[in-house]
Amino acid sequence: MRDTLVLNASFEPLSTVTLNRAVVLVLQDKAVVEQAHPELRMRGAAVDIPAPRVIRLCQYVRVPFRRRAPWSRRGVLVRDRHRCAYCGRRATTVDHVVPRSQGGQDTWLNTVASCAEDNHRKANRTPVEAGMPLLREPFEPTPADAMLLALAQDDFAALPDWLVLDAA
Ligand SMILES: [Zn+2]
Repeated sequence: MRDTLVLNASFEPLSTVTLNRAVVLVLQDKAVVEQAHPELRMRGAAVDIPAPRVIRLCQYVRVPFRRRAPWSRRGVLVRDRHRCAYCGRRATTVDHVVPRSQGGQDTWLNTVASCAEDNHRKANRTPVEAGMPLLREPFEPTPADAMLLALAQDDFAALPDWLVLDAA
């Protein structure tokens, strides 16, 4: 669920992000809340803020006019939030869905985050051949998505566990 609109420092709309990612950007002082949900608050051990509906980045970012975000291993791990596409545990490697030995390429749609164990187990097989279905389909992030992922990558994996959404 992408609930929060992100504005550039210049107030131009950039993209939408999940509520959790929006809160991370605010807590990391990378964005400020411009408009909050009237009845929702994000509460945690050390934080209690209104759930942001619109946030604005503190620093102006230039979004490249490329139509596609460049592929990188690190980008795949960040896109998949370091979660293994096969078992959901922490991922540290990138797996080619169609293996390179079968012509699979380094593209957003052919690569997923994977734990080392599953990457080793799947080896040079497709998910069907290995009997290892993908928990979710890989997708191609837009350049604005890639930029926002990079901005909020530090510790959002830890956040959703302790941060709960409360209706006030
Ligand atoms: Zn795994």
